[in-house]
Amino acid sequence: MQDSSKKIYEGKAKIIYETENPDVLISYFKDDATAFNAQKRGMIVGKGEMNCRIASHLFQLLESRGIDTHYIDRLTANEMLIKAVEIVPLEVIVRNIAAGSLCKQTGLPEGLHLPQPIVEYCYKSDSLGDPLLTDDRLALLNVATPAEVATIGSLARRVNEVLTDFFAKCGIVLVDFKIEFGRDRTGNILLADEISPDSCRLWLANEPDPVLRILDKDRFRRDLGNVEGAYREVLRRVEGGA
Ligand code: UDP
Repeated sequence: MQDSSKKIYEGKAKIIYETENPDVLISYFKDDATAFNAQKRGMIVGKGEMNCRIASHLFQLLESRGIDTHYIDRLTANEMLIKAVEIVPLEVIVRNIAAGSLCKQTGLPEGLHLPQPIVEYCYKSDSLGDPLLTDDRLALLNVATPAEVATIGSLARRVNEVLTDFFAKCGIVLVDFKIEFGRDRTGNILLADEISPDSCRLWLANEPDPVLRILDKDRFRRDLGNVEGAYREVLRRVEGGA
């Protein structure tokens, strides 16, 4: 990072810097890892570079399938050039298989294949603990217009189709994931943030062992060991993938 670049935002896993062009920013991927609303903190060695490479690959794939993203280019090992957007404060979760909070909140067994993918919206607020929103709460909070919510929902389903298919070709099952969207200066909705083992549940296909199959941040959250190895395996498969 050039000394002259001004930091404009620091999150848990990334730092955003401005460039000379107000429409273009730099996203720097950190090795820092957090879980449970930052109550658990740690470091995953090499994560910044691995997630930057994985996210870059997936954004390019999605762009090639007609989904507009904030991705412009990969600058260095752990820096991505991105379009400036105003982030819509929603964590959009898409699920194919029951896991995590869906199981905790509904009692559905982990690993249950859902009859069709489901999309959920959580309010992006660390202080409130990212609560799950109902349709009426979504409308009440007015964080996005009804038209934007409809666009975001259909984009999320399309992202899921492309990624599920891609990961399957890599021998990985896309269980669920969280994505975020932003508005560019003209109001277009772009896929933003990142897509990586930090934000997806990824299970090795054909691995029945419920711990050995995990290739994502659950290894860090649940102290399962071999966190770096799992991320490296995802990177290897994604970059060598279809
Ligand atoms: N997720 C995320 N950031 C969050 C919450 C969830 O990236 O703040 C991802 C998580 O990695 C998983 C998916 O969203 O792939 C669904 O997470 P879930 O709602 O099950 O929450 P969890 O039980 O993981 O907290």
